[in-house]
Amino acid sequence: MAENTQKNQTERDLLRQKRRRRAKQKSLILRIVLFLALVGILVALVILLPKIMGGNGEKVILNPTPTPAADSSAAEPTQAVPEGPARTEVLAEAKRLAAQYDYDQAVAVIEAFKGYDTDEELVGEIASIRAAKDACTPVSVVGVPHVFFHSLINDSRGLIASATCTEDRVAKNNKAMCTTGEFKAIIQKMYDAGYVLISLDDLVVKTANADGSVTMEKNPSLCLPAGKKPLIMSEDDLSYYHAYGENGAQGYADRLVLDENGLVKCQFTDVDGTVKVGDYDMVPILETFIAEHPDFSYRGARPTIALTGYNGIFGYRTNDYYKEGPEGKDLGPVQQAFLRAHPEYDYDRDCAEARKIADALKAQGWTFASHTYGHRDARESTLEQLQADHERWKLAVGQFIGETDKIIFAFGADIGYVGGYTADNAKYQYYRKEGFNIYSNVDGNFGWMEYGTGFVRTGRIAIDGVTMYNAMTEGTPSHETFKKDYELLGITDIAGFFDKNRNPEYCRSES
Ligand SMILES: [Zn+2]
Repeated sequence: MAENTQKNQTERDLLRQKRRRRAKQKSLILRIVLFLALVGILVALVILLPKIMGGNGEKVILNPTPTPAADSSAAEPTQAVPEGPARTEVLAEAKRLAAQYDYDQAVAVIEAFKGYDTDEELVGEIASIRAAKDACTPVSVVGVPHVFFHSLINDSRGLIASATCTEDRVAKNNKAMCTTGEFKAIIQKMYDAGYVLISLDDLVVKTANADGSVTMEKNPSLCLPAGKKPLIMSEDDLSYYHAYGENGAQGYADRLVLDENGLVKCQFTDVDGTVKVGDYDMVPILETFIAEHPDFSYRGARPTIALTGYNGIFGYRTNDYYKEGPEGKDLGPVQQAFLRAHPEYDYDRDCAEARKIADALKAQGWTFASHTYGHRDARESTLEQLQADHERWKLAVGQFIGETDKIIFAFGADIGYVGGYTADNAKYQYYRKEGFNIYSNVDGNFGWMEYGTGFVRTGRIAIDGVTMYNAMTEGTPSHETFKKDYELLGITDIAGFFDKNRNPEYCRSES
């Protein structure tokens, strides 16, 4: 490097000397020529000045680029016909939309492409999209199964007793959670069985009434090809609670983050302490799966995320109580300990990050539900307690995720029994006034649903350690019910993907 630089410097010096010598020789000749030229130029100026002032001549010669006015006919086609990639992208987008059963939109994308009608391949694509649409039949929105998961465990840390995982947490993780490996196997099996993810919103057609209420009717136009069946999915408690441990202590992700492309990923601390960004929970794993299997999502549908507020959301401590600091009277001992361990905590920064994640999730098709602020048992709580809880939820969660009309009851504890919410149900009337129309509990009865004029209710099947283990193990509580649920979901050979580090003693129990 240095040698080259020195060599170049010497060459430049020699060149400069040569130039100087030549310049001296030329100088004398130039002076004579210049004198003669000056006389000539003065004469020429008198003759040519009017033409130069008129703007012709030299300016045009020096600028060979045609002006738009001079050559607009040549410029237009190069701008208006997007060759190559644009056409490829149009075709790819149309195929993706058609794969996700959005046939009309797929055709519209092609028809918006200039010159499509003389393009044999594009015309053929429209014909095959229309044929695929014609082959679809309406699907009933009654009896649609709704499965739910919690945050996923990435390795065995949460499933076995260790220095970083208490016995109590080991029990809870074994019971209520799935690992990333189990989740991947399960969604593949449901996909293979023909299931297609729909949104809770796809169940109904909503009509706003003059009084601000909403009338719900069953969606009559959910159409799918033969062999495809609708499925609803949700993820509960996506807060990365303090109880899940820090820095991957139990194998959970630390928080949701955005990658360089603006996609929602997880930050995860690996066993060796390495901090990584990638597919370490349901959101990014499912996104990757849908990118590879677009027909798993009906018109871009994604699951619903059920959020409490007491520890904030997505791993960000957005509950305003944290502003009180480590001695805060509204904080529990675990929250106070968190603040003592993290003097760098900044409420406004966490809120800003959480808002970005919520916006990105919404852009990707995810929806949100209240899971109550305090993970409250809505059946046992009084109306006044639920009202106070919901006011807290709006502050800690609602202001970041925006409006939602969905509530997914914590513990699956619904505010009413089977038979629909009644006019004298004060809790229902309160939630309805607060804008909730879609209610979900937990119910082992496959595809349990109820429709009313102002609500739809769905019963959810927990996919977790207890139900997996009991479904595959004879003589366990509710074995037959869980076995049937899993079979109907296309989830067979559970033993083939059931995490080997699970402790069956914890999974065996009823809840
Ligand atoms: Zn929960």
